Order: sequence, then structure tokens, then C-alpha cells
Amino acid sequence: MSKVVIIGAGASGLITAIYARKNHHEVLVLEKNDSLGKKILKTGNGKCNYWNSDQSIDHYHSRNKKILETIINDKNQKEVLSFFSSIGIVPKIKNGYYYPNSQQASSIKDALVLEAKLVGVEFLCDMEVIDLEKKDHQFVITTNQEKILADKVVLATGSYAGLKEKTNGYDLALKFKHTIIPVLPSLVQLKAEEKFLKDWSGIRSEAKIRLYENDKFIKEETGEIQLTDYGISGICTFNLSPIITRGLYDKKREHVIIDFLPIVNTKSIEDLISWIENRNLLVQNRNLFELFEGILNNKLVKVILNRCHMSQKKHWNNLNQKEKYEFAKNLKYFHLDIIGTNSYAKAQVCSGGIPLDEINPNTFESKKESHLYFVGEILDVDGECGGYNLSFAWISGMECGRNL
Ligand SMILES: Cc1cc2nc3c(=O)[nH]c(=O)nc-3n(C[C@H](O)[C@H](O)[C@H](O)COP(=O)(O)OP(=O)(O)OC[C@H]3O[C@@H](n4cnc5c(N)ncnc54)[C@H](O)[C@@H]3O)c2cc1C
Repeated sequence: MSKVVIIGAGASGLITAIYARKNHHEVLVLEKNDSLGKKILKTGNGKCNYWNSDQSIDHYHSRNKKILETIINDKNQKEVLSFFSSIGIVPKIKNGYYYPNSQQASSIKDALVLEAKLVGVEFLCDMEVIDLEKKDHQFVITTNQEKILADKVVLATGSYAGLKEKTNGYDLALKFKHTIIPVLPSLVQLKAEEKFLKDWSGIRSEAKIRLYENDKFIKEETGEIQLTDYGISGICTFNLSPIITRGLYDKKREHVIIDFLPIVNTKSIEDLISWIENRNLLVQNRNLFELFEGILNNKLVKVILNRCHMSQKKHWNNLNQKEKYEFAKNLKYFHLDIIGTNSYAKAQVCSGGIPLDEINPNTFESKKESHLYFVGEILDVDGECGGYNLSFAWISGMECGRNL
């Protein structure tokens, strides 16, 4: 039996603690907040989307995807689900997204904390770890209150996402000669710099968004997009943000092409012009603004008309071919340069962290320092929206705790 200290009582720290304790270790969890599992309460809009039935590796980002593939395996997936069932969580599954049937994130947090206490995990809140050293085969953990000794230490300190102030988990890892892949806000809103942004703020629209990096097509997402006074938001933009945040960091040019009419199945601007001609015949005597009534948000039509320098009162038949082309292009091929993302505080996760090739993927032990472990978001793994980030927190914590 070893004395294990886990730094951080978030999703990954809590599950690591339970498995380590079941593995007969003496387990103490240090948490700098005044309560346990605070971030879990914010997840899934307060409902906690804690898992996804489609665990394909395509839903994850990491600089070492080959290693990640060995971690997200069938055995681990089954075990996470049976663990949650064993602590009383009944899932409500919607399109593969798992929520607790209570629809309350607090159920997940409370069930984890209860289980941890039942198996004998000790917790200390308001305990911020400010330094970590190794002396004579033991770790010396300096907190804001006292010094604590441990045989094994698990860093489960998470990332900067969703926080106003940066945490110091990465700095503690640096002391043991780990490298840190630059930590950037991800699953986050995208910023643009255009005069019209204030005019489209508040619009929600179905859209298909295609991402281009240095003018090369990378990926597309379809879903609801929210147009804001700083740029664009919504799940489909969030899912493009991990690529964009890293691309911008690497000084690449990022732009998106937004299709505001994904329900209109045309293959080219010429096709779309024919479609508009037909609509114009169908709903006669309407000006350009009225022509799209009932199919597009009218505030958005105004933005597109202004972008094309066209009066709302003009009729389709009065446009010349160049004007028709310009108007149609902005309906389905709306170009927006992305110049940045919102801050860490607005992000749901961070991209980057400790590289997976610096840990043993079976035990999560550091390859640089024996008996030091990393779990959860501090590692260089981030997932799409849909429960993938918590999935990784559970899998990494479970495997680490079991193998400590
Ligand atoms: C608004 C929001 C919504 C989200 N929704 C979802 C969702 O629905 N589904 C999903 O899969 N993911 C979601 N996520 C992401 C998910 O919450 C995280 O990926 C996950 O919580 C990471 O777990 P973790 O244990 O690695 O880190 P955290 O949960 O961040 O836990 C780290 C803990 O360590 C503590 N700590 C840090 N430094 C120290 C220190 N020096 N000393 C002591 N304690 C320390 C922190 O206070 C914290 O409690 C969401 C995130 C946000 C911000």
C-alpha cells in the first residue's frame, strides 16, 4: 500500500481516487476550490453530457493519435459504463449522447464524491498545491497550508478552460522536465473582424460551415450557427475550433465559407441562381428582402444585401448577371476570415498539454519521473462536443487508479 496524493478533485481526479483506493492505496485528494468537482456542475448546460456511444478516434484531437487509439479501447469503454451504472447513474441517451436520467450534472458529481467517501478516499479542500519536489524517493507537496509527503502523485489539475485565472498544473509538470504542447482555448467561439458583425448579432441559423486553412479545405460541419457581435458560435463552430486555434497559433490563415441555405441542394453558384429564378417566379412581385421571407432570417438577408451593396427594395429581375452572382455567392458561399478565438474563460477545453509520448499509456505514469502520473485534460487530448472530454477524463483516471 502506498500513500497516493491526487492533486485536483475534478472529473479525472475523482475517478482516479476511487480506483486507487479500491486498489488498496491510502488516497488523499487535494483541491484548491472550497468544494469538490465544481467544473462537472457546469458541463452540458448543467445536465452533464458525460459519455458518447460513438467513441471513434476521429472525435478526439491529440498530437499522438496512435497512442490515444490504444487508450480509448473497447474494454475501457465498457468499464466506464459499468462503473457509472455501479454508482447508480441511469443514462438518458439522446443520439448517442449520455446524460444522467435526472438531467442534473450534480448527480454525476454527487455519485462520484459519495462513492469516493464510501471506499475511504480522504479529501482536503481549500488546499492549493504551490510546489512539488521529489526528495529521497518521496514527493514533497507544498500547499498554501502545509507540506504533505506522498509515495505517488497524480496531477489531475485540468486545463485553463472555463476559468478566470490560470491554474499551475503545467508549471508543476515542467519541474520534472516534461514538455508542454502550447495550451490553447478550444471548443470556443470564433472571432472575426468585420463591420457588419453588430448587424447580425443574435441571429441563429442552420448552416454548413467549411473550414479552409491557408486556402486548403480541411473539414466541414453542419448544424445551428449563432452569429454574434464578435464572430460566430454554436456547436458546429466549436467543433472546428480545435483546428483553428492551433492553425492560428502556427500563423496559418483560417477562413470559413458559410452556407446559409444548406436545405437548398445546389452544386454551384449557377445552379443556385436558377433556384432563385424559380423562387422568384413562384412568389411574384417581391423585392429582394421579401423574396427570402420564410426561408432565411430577415436580419441575415439585410446583412447579405448590405454586403452586396444592394437596396432591399430592388427586385431580382432588375439585377445584372454580376449582381445575381454576387448575391447568390453570399447566400451559400459567405466568406469569413477568422482572426482569433474567445478567451480560456469562455472555452470548454484546452488543446495541448503534456504529450502522450511522455507517459506510459497503460498506467499514465510519467516517463520522466517514476511514481508521478497525469490524468484528464492536463494531457494533450481534447475531444469534440458530445461528451468526449469527460470520456477521456474517466478512461484516463480509471486506468491510472487501477494500475497505480
Ligand atoms: C462550460 C463547460 C461545459 C462543459 N461541458 C462538457 C460536457 O458536457 N461534456 C464533456 O465531456 N466535457 C465538457 N466540458 C469539459 C470537461 O468539463 C473537462 O474536460 C473535464 O472536466 C476535465 O476534467 P479534469 O479532471 O481533467 O479537470 P477539471 O475538471 O478542470 O479538474 C481539475 C481540478 O484541479 C483543481 N486544481 C487545479 N490546480 C490545482 C492546484 N494547484 N492545487 C489543487 N487543486 C488544483 C481544480 O480546482 C479542479 O477542481 C465542459 C467544460 C466547460 C468549461
